Amino acid sequence: MYDFTMTIAGRSVAALDSFEIDNPATGEAFTSAPECSAEQLDDAMTAAQDAFEEWRRDPSARRSVLEGAADLVESHADELAGIITTEQGKPLSEAQEEVEGAASDLRYYPSLQLPEDSLHDDGELSVVVQRRAIGPVATITPWNYPLGVAVAKVATALAAGCTVVLKPSPYTPLSCLRFGEIVRDAFPPGVLNVISGGDRLGAELSRHPLTRLVSFTGSIETGKQIAAAAAGDLKRIELELGGNDPAVVLDDVDVDLIADDLFAYAFGNCGQVCDAIKRVYAPQRIYGQLVDALADRARAARVGDGGDANTQIGPLTNAMQRDRVSELVRDAVSNGGRVAAGGKAPDRPGYFWEPTVLADVAGGERIVVEEQFGPALPVVPYDDLSEAVHRANDTQFGLCASVWSGDAERGAAVASQLQAGTIWVNTHQGYVDGQPSSGLKWSGVGAEGGLYGLLGFTSPQVVHVVKSAGR
Ligand code: NAD
Repeated sequence: MYDFTMTIAGRSVAALDSFEIDNPATGEAFTSAPECSAEQLDDAMTAAQDAFEEWRRDPSARRSVLEGAADLVESHADELAGIITTEQGKPLSEAQEEVEGAASDLRYYPSLQLPEDSLHDDGELSVVVQRRAIGPVATITPWNYPLGVAVAKVATALAAGCTVVLKPSPYTPLSCLRFGEIVRDAFPPGVLNVISGGDRLGAELSRHPLTRLVSFTGSIETGKQIAAAAAGDLKRIELELGGNDPAVVLDDVDVDLIADDLFAYAFGNCGQVCDAIKRVYAPQRIYGQLVDALADRARAARVGDGGDANTQIGPLTNAMQRDRVSELVRDAVSNGGRVAAGGKAPDRPGYFWEPTVLADVAGGERIVVEEQFGPALPVVPYDDLSEAVHRANDTQFGLCASVWSGDAERGAAVASQLQAGTIWVNTHQGYVDGQPSSGLKWSGVGAEGGLYGLLGFTSPQVVHVVKSAGR
């Protein structure tokens, strides 16, 4: 593959050092990405700072620039989707949806109106609260939706009037680097900078003196480090962190009706989704039937290279995550869990893991308590619904949760007892335009999505005007 460059101050920038990028379907390095130096990071932040005052002033100019960027993404959609599949592993059709989502975010966010609130207006005095963009934003992103998560943040920040330095995951930086190249000339220099490097670069970016807000999606552990790094300078933070979403199944469901959905929301993107179903609580009456239905689907799923049109589930994105899933499955089995499907890596190169359903787990195993972020789903039996609700809530995670019931009202009553930023009934990962994502507890700080997300890149600014001086 060709040489990817960083985008700094509107220019194409190479680096002295580079790091290798693996194709997770083969387990082999296929290209490299530039390793941003400390000086280049400084250049990027300075460019973002210099561009800020002009960029924040004119929402209609921002809108037309972002729409131009959306057109460019659409005209390079096949190329970007191919890069996502090669660096991340997901099926090409899902990568194409990710690119479409990125283009649609670039159009959607500048179409929103930042509110202006008139508190007082008469012949003598006007008092208005308006929203003012916070300043240069450091955007630090993970590897599960390499372009989608990054562009959602970039589009929101830029639409609000902030400028951006984007650092994607070192496992999957290529689609973001290519995005920077594609839209480079559409933006005034310095408005959007894209750099690449490892965790150390993320840490330097989040404590850089010119960074005013860190918008981060990733693990809880890194989120805490960013919060600590930001505290000394009182930088704003917006953190979208890990989840361990429970699905609480009630005893009135028709298993055949819900099994496809439960499976899809647990195993999509090879389970590497913040708001995937990561543990299922099922009543004894239907427990065996539900485990069998999920296990049938796991065995039938076509696992393979994301570039193959038949593939439903690709590899995990890196060896570290595959090994973590393996360790958690082993731990569950050694504590009495039963492998109902999968349970091992297939005999082929790459970072694959067979879709795995674990039955007869008691509920305290690591795979239930921790976030597995991979294709292995524990199903925990329960006798008493209040006990299932207690277990679903007995965690520091609070991203999302769902309840599955033949009676939507009964489902909603149970859902209202769950401690999560989003609670669904008879679905999971359901979104409409404008819907925010906002984790409770350790799953996040602030909100992303819709006007709620846009406001997070701004502060209220009061304009208090006495109309005649001297009164
Ligand atoms: P990660 O925290 O390891 O890395 C994410 C990014 O942070 C990478 O770019 C990395 O280089 C950077 N980073 C690492 N250490 C840093 C530090 N000390 N300071 C600043 N930056 C640093 O996360 P990951 O493994 O790439 O992603 C998986 C996690 O992301 C899962 O926990 C998943 O649930 C979570 N996630 C959450 C959401 C959400 O919206 N809540 C969405 C997607 C993924």
